[in-house]
Amino acid sequence: MSKQSTAYSPQKVDVLVVGGGNAALCAAITARQEGASVLVLESSPKHFRGGNSRHTRNIRYIHPAANSFLTGPYTEEECYQDLLGVTKGNTVESMARIVIRGSNNVGDWMMEQGVHFQPAMRGTLHLSRTNGFFLGGGKALINAYYARAEKLGVKIEYDATVDDLEIENDEFRAAYFQQGDKYYRVEAKAVVLASGGYQANLEWLKRSWGPTAANFLIRGTPYDKGLMLKVMMDHGAKTLGDPTQGHCVAIDGRAPKFDGGICTRLDCVPFGIAVNKECKRFYNEGEEIWPKRYAIWGRLVAGQPDQIAYIIIDSKSIDLFMPSVFPPFVSDTIEGLASQFDIDPDALKATVEEFNAHCKPTKDFDSGKPDGNATEGLEPPKTNWARPINQPPYYGYMLRPGITFSYLSLALTERCFVKKQDDTPFKNILAAGELTSGNVLGQGYMAGFGMTIGTVFGRIAGKEAACLK
Ligand SMILES: Cc1cc2nc3c(=O)[nH]c(=O)nc-3n(C[C@H](O)[C@H](O)[C@H](O)COP(=O)(O)OP(=O)(O)OC[C@H]3O[C@@H](n4cnc5c(N)ncnc54)[C@H](O)[C@@H]3O)c2cc1C
Repeated sequence: MSKQSTAYSPQKVDVLVVGGGNAALCAAITARQEGASVLVLESSPKHFRGGNSRHTRNIRYIHPAANSFLTGPYTEEECYQDLLGVTKGNTVESMARIVIRGSNNVGDWMMEQGVHFQPAMRGTLHLSRTNGFFLGGGKALINAYYARAEKLGVKIEYDATVDDLEIENDEFRAAYFQQGDKYYRVEAKAVVLASGGYQANLEWLKRSWGPTAANFLIRGTPYDKGLMLKVMMDHGAKTLGDPTQGHCVAIDGRAPKFDGGICTRLDCVPFGIAVNKECKRFYNEGEEIWPKRYAIWGRLVAGQPDQIAYIIIDSKSIDLFMPSVFPPFVSDTIEGLASQFDIDPDALKATVEEFNAHCKPTKDFDSGKPDGNATEGLEPPKTNWARPINQPPYYGYMLRPGITFSYLSLALTERCFVKKQDDTPFKNILAAGELTSGNVLGQGYMAGFGMTIGTVFGRIAGKEAACLK
């Protein structure tokens, strides 16, 4: 391969890690602890380091008993059944079991690296038996891992985007990376690819989702563009997972195009109605308690004209959900709200009046659980929390689809080597994290499992890569 590149100094390291999020750092720390010299190449500038992992709050892992931040035991079998439930069986059992078993008490290893967990929480985020919540969130976790890696002697380069790999006879030789106006070539005995999904690559998203993807908001880092996935596909790597699958939720339409993070979620859908830009309702807003339905609304909104929807609630409901990061739109009339959204005031008024006319509350309203107050004779129905929207002021929010991460992944062996299309592995190319999530998540998602996949595969890949030194 001929490229106009400068040799990076030191020209050769034992283990090269591409990426700078959770999976990359777990791999780098482990490889270094196994005695390898390690170089991490992170696309982002230092202040943006940590990819989507910066936005996380928790990790799911199995453990035999309660401790100071987990409220009870969580077994391999229960976790596997939970995974089967969310994926509808669309997982590779051997890989899923490796992740689940490898997660056993992984919080202890994380704490040894400087991560802290916070006491169990209550409320809609109540997952405290199965998931450990990071004190200070993902940003603190990432800072702890970087501090640990640096202390161990891992070399880290920021603003370093790897855009090509030199692979001969199924063996990795060198990586090429851009840093400022320099283009470097660096050799290593093994490479761990941990550069996230391709969800920040709108052109790629459009290929699987169609032109509508232009209106998606990307909840996390703008740096996960799938360059390594593409390079490995070009080199004959086997992929797993459906390119139209990914984690996609409905978020505040005013969220930034990239990196809005967790605070842009809106929890008010069950307490009002959701309409599209034609002022038509399109789905049962009261199907289930919100955390259980949260993940389907991204796709629902993606299916609406211009990929936008509007939530309309009244003053009875404004205090029933987690406050939004952006203030709601507010008006004393439904028509006034519609004008602010630039949708047809008469049409919105008619939809609200039709909805109100079909609300026949029979039980006490209960925002805490499905209360059985359903519309009668309305299509689509609202099967819980259906009560008239009639008490001004009226409030509204815009909803847009927010992509969390893509599922199309590199297929892995059980030791986290990247597979070729004939199922045999590349000799010294390993991968971990979001780039490999399709090995376990064929569809669906369970909270905290992205970090499990990255932590377990990252540690395996780091250890295996160090063996090749
Ligand atoms: C808002 C939000 C909240 C989330 N909350 C949770 C949660 O609470 N729990 C959970 O388990 N999961 C959560 N997730 C999912 C979770 O973030 C991911 O599953 C996990 O962080 C993936 O880790 P990773 O290391 O594979 O990827 P990332 O953390 O995204 O890291 C990839 C890294 O690779 C770098 N990179 C990309 N391309 C290149 C390249 N060509 N060269 C060099 N570097 C490159 C990027 O800069 C980035 O640092 C959340 C995601 C989002 C967006």
